[in-house]
Amino acid sequence: MIDTAILPPATARSLIDAIGAPVVLLDEQAVALALSPAMKALIPGLEVGKLLTLVLRDPDLIEAIDQVSRIGGREVIELIERVPVERTFRIHIAPFPGGAGRRNATLLTFQDLSEQRVIERMRVDFVANASHELRTPLASLLGFVETLQGPARNDEKARGRFLGIMREQGLRMARLVDDLLSLSRIEQRAHVAPDSPVDLAGISREIVDSLALMASEREVTLKLTGPAEPLQVPGDRDELLRLMENLVENAIKYGKRGGAVSITVAALDGEASVCVRDDGPGIAPEHLPRLTERFYRVDTAASREAGGTGLGLAIVKHIVLRHRGRLTIESKPGEGATFKAILPRFEARRAG
Ligand code: ADP
Repeated sequence: MIDTAILPPATARSLIDAIGAPVVLLDEQAVALALSPAMKALIPGLEVGKLLTLVLRDPDLIEAIDQVSRIGGREVIELIERVPVERTFRIHIAPFPGGAGRRNATLLTFQDLSEQRVIERMRVDFVANASHELRTPLASLLGFVETLQGPARNDEKARGRFLGIMREQGLRMARLVDDLLSLSRIEQRAHVAPDSPVDLAGISREIVDSLALMASEREVTLKLTGPAEPLQVPGDRDELLRLMENLVENAIKYGKRGGAVSITVAALDGEASVCVRDDGPGIAPEHLPRLTERFYRVDTAASREAGGTGLGLAIVKHIVLRHRGRLTIESKPGEGATFKAILPRFEARRAG
């Protein structure tokens, strides 16, 4: 009776081969009888004829497979693999009686939840970070309001000083909200590449002019090198201004007091680059890959002191991505830092 239910091995294998999801058919010993191509891609160590539990050594998985194979029913388990990188799988285990000629075969369907988990964690961290960043100045603001309503009610001198601090804290909150809004606007439009011709050389001149005062306050010399003629990229003018402003402002803020910041705009083969280099203390290598994360700072106190929100480079990264370009950051401690954005050229896109 059961024999008639047996799926010929070749049919079972070609069925599994055709499935787009990662699936593996196991015999009653948990030896792989057939794998889909997506399964091979997901767990390259797994092969036909090999014990699944040698590749994924998880007691819960072994027990669940055994249970389904002997008793039937379905099981769903979540498995976290920690090496070589952390991955989370949801595995559906179902009986596949007669599959590839085995009475107690089971079919395992994998779902890779790793990316989803990373995104969930980032979202939770982001909300926590943003709330924390806003709560600190808010608490200080409320503290001063209460002091002015209470103990310092009639203290003229304290009032002036406290109002000054309150203004600072209010401005800090406003900067943070502005940066959060910019970031979300850029992200919302991430899939639409901007296409108006924008002159990178002109943008750089504007930024150098607008930051001249800030530079002179830190006795920093700004040196701009670029072509006299326009160097156009398909872009969003406001976003490119923002990109340049963030990079040059950082170089002034975190570079050397009394140092030099060079801004170089250059035409490359089909591309254009802007490079901002300072001669400050630089950045240790372990921080480099994380600098463009939201709220990541090398020195939180120094960043706050300089009026930073921790979002500047995250905004830069998203602007570069939206412009279909790339950002490189190079630095050796003690030898300054170099931030370079490379964007496709306008002419090149038109021609292509
Ligand atoms: P912030 O608002 O703190 O300036 P950013 O995202 O612009 O935020 O920068 C993140 C961190 O990267 C800064 O807090 C600083 O520690 C570091 N950083 C950025 N630019 C430079 C630079 N030119 N030299 C040294 N450190 C830098």
